[in-house]
Amino acid sequence: MLSYQHAYHAGNFADVHKHLTLFAVIDHLLRKRSSVTYMDTHAGRGLYPLAAEETAKLQEYREGVARLWQARERLGDDLLLGDWLTALGRMQSRAGGLDHYPGSPWWLSQRLREQDRLMLFELHPGEHGHLAQQALPDNVQRIHGDGLQGLVKRLPVPSPRLCVLVDPSYERKEEYAEVAEAVCQAMRKARHAVVLVWYPLLPAGRHRELLEGLRDGGVRKIWRSELHLREPQQGERGMIGSGMLVINAPWGLDERLEAAVAKILPLLGETSRHRGDWWVGE
Ligand code: SAM
Repeated sequence: MLSYQHAYHAGNFADVHKHLTLFAVIDHLLRKRSSVTYMDTHAGRGLYPLAAEETAKLQEYREGVARLWQARERLGDDLLLGDWLTALGRMQSRAGGLDHYPGSPWWLSQRLREQDRLMLFELHPGEHGHLAQQALPDNVQRIHGDGLQGLVKRLPVPSPRLCVLVDPSYERKEEYAEVAEAVCQAMRKARHAVVLVWYPLLPAGRHRELLEGLRDGGVRKIWRSELHLREPQQGERGMIGSGMLVINAPWGLDERLEAAVAKILPLLGETSRHRGDWWVGE
C-alpha cells in the first residue's frame, strides 16, 4: 500500500540536495546538442504550493529551501547556486516571494529542449492525478505505473543520451534492493546512462544494501554525495541526512557540487557536513 505523499516534505534539505545535484547534471548534459531522454521513475506531484495543507503541516521547507532563499544574494556568487535560485524564483507567483517548491518533474521539464524527451512515472493514483493536471511541455509523457519496471522495459531509448532519476520513498525496506536490481538491469541495457539515485541516511544504515547491490551488479564509476545533518540521538530512527549517487557522473560535476554544497552547509546547522567521493565498493 502506498501512503507516502511528498507534499509533507517538499522543499526540505533533502529536496535541495537532490534537485541541486539534478540541476548540475542537466547543466552538463545541455553542453552538447545531441538529444537526451530523461526518465523520472518516482515523479510525485510535480509542484508544491507551500501553503497547501500537507506542506504547511510540517513546514520542512523552512529548514531547507527557505534558508537558501533568504541567503540568495550571497549564494549567487556561486554560479550553480545562482542559476538554481534564479530558476526557483521563476516558479514563484510574485517576485521576491517563496510560495511554491518545484518537484523533479518541474526541474526536468523546464530545461527540456525540442529534441529531448521526458517520461514521468508515478504509481500513486492521487499523486498521478495531481501530476496529470499540470501544464507541462508536449514532449513530457506522464505514465501511471511502476517506475522501476517502466524504466527497464523502455530501454534502450532511441536518443543518443539518457538520464534517469530514481527517487523512491523507501516505505518498504525491500526497496533498497529493488532499486539496486533495477538500476543494474538498466545499466546493462544502457551502459552510457547517467543515473541519479537518492536515498535517505537513517541511523539503521539501510542504504548499504543499495550500495552493495550496485557493487555486486557490477556498476562502477559512481559519484557519491552524502549530506549529514547530525549524528543520531539514542533511539532515533528518522532521517539524519540525504544521499545521492550519480552513475557515469559527467566530468567536473564533483567539483561544482562540492563547492556549492560547501556554501550551503553553514545554513543547514552547525553539525552538518558533506562527504563527496568516488565510490569504489568498500
Ligand atoms: N521525485 C519527486 C521529486 O523530487 O519531487 C519526489 C518523489 S517521492 C520521494 C516518491 C514518489 O514515488 C511518491 O509520489 C510515490 O507515490 C511514488 N512511488 C512509490 N512507489 C512507486 C513505484 N514503484 N513507481 C512509481 N512511483 C512510485
